[in-house]
Amino acid sequence: MSISVGCNNTCTFCIVPALRGKEKDRRPGDILAEIEALVGEGVSEITLLGQNVNAYGSDIGDREAFSKLLRACGTIDGLERVRFTSPHPRDFTDDVIAAMAETPNVMPQLHMPLQSGSDPVLKAMRRSYRQERYLGIIEKVRDAIPHAAISTDIIVGFPGETEEDFQQTLHVVREARFAQAFTFQYSKRPGTPAAEMDGQIPKKVVQERYERLVALQEEISWEENKKQVGRTVELMVAEGEGRKDGATHRLSGRAPDSRLVHFTKPEQEVRPGDVVTVEITYAAPHHLLAEGAVLDVRRTRAGDAWEKRNTEKAARPAGVLLGLPKVGVPEPLPAVTGGCAVD
Ligand code: SF4
Repeated sequence: MSISVGCNNTCTFCIVPALRGKEKDRRPGDILAEIEALVGEGVSEITLLGQNVNAYGSDIGDREAFSKLLRACGTIDGLERVRFTSPHPRDFTDDVIAAMAETPNVMPQLHMPLQSGSDPVLKAMRRSYRQERYLGIIEKVRDAIPHAAISTDIIVGFPGETEEDFQQTLHVVREARFAQAFTFQYSKRPGTPAAEMDGQIPKKVVQERYERLVALQEEISWEENKKQVGRTVELMVAEGEGRKDGATHRLSGRAPDSRLVHFTKPEQEVRPGDVVTVEITYAAPHHLLAEGAVLDVRRTRAGDAWEKRNTEKAARPAGVLLGLPKVGVPEPLPAVTGGCAVD
């Protein structure tokens, strides 16, 4: 659910400020009313979206509005999981960390774009935090939420990036131990200041750095996933997340920290939206397996809603669609991608 659009920052690689303009926040009451209505229809997980989601409140004059919103989500009966994306390190204040740690339905997961670990490159990107601040936030989050899975976005080959700058990015990756990193090779985006900068890096150099970064992150993702083996976790059953599920007689779900887990299909019927408890038995770099029997199945209102939707769909007569407008609740709009994602 979008809670804000636009962004007041001016990162030199990003087109969002030009396309979406200044940040506009929705009223907290409107957001909460909409979440309550969705929960009433069977929705059990919500992701709060904004180009710079944790700056939420700057437009309505309340610097702690985002942490208050997280805490308010914690009071909505039936709302099982709350996530948000993408936060900016500049606005990642202690009240947000406390709200994450103290609100049981806010999941132990954080996606916080790093973009670069080098202070000179961050300056050239016009990202207002520095390496020390970024790592400081990670440390505080880990102290408050020890099992949090932290992921990030990183750009390789920003104009002017030297080998030493790149080494600083590798340093942060080693220190932060991200569960996952979305890595991008810098490419010029017309209309952005970075596209006009001197020091554009040859493709071959960018590619080589990118491969080193991906190799390091793969190793860390795998090591972090291996630490999950033996843990008992609750999964929210997902739809369409396991391409091989049919062949392997498995189903897939997301753990509270958003890790993808493929689990053995139980005898009992399990629907997307239901919650199962499993023990993790195997780790790959990008997914986990729970190969034993499912320990518990909890049928949920989200599962009921999924079943109702599918029963209605199956009962609908097949025919020629004339493109007439539909009556009733509209299909959800496509998600607004976090602006701090590079695309
Ligand atoms: S990268 Fe994120 S913070 Fe920077 S201008 Fe774009 S949306 Fe705003």
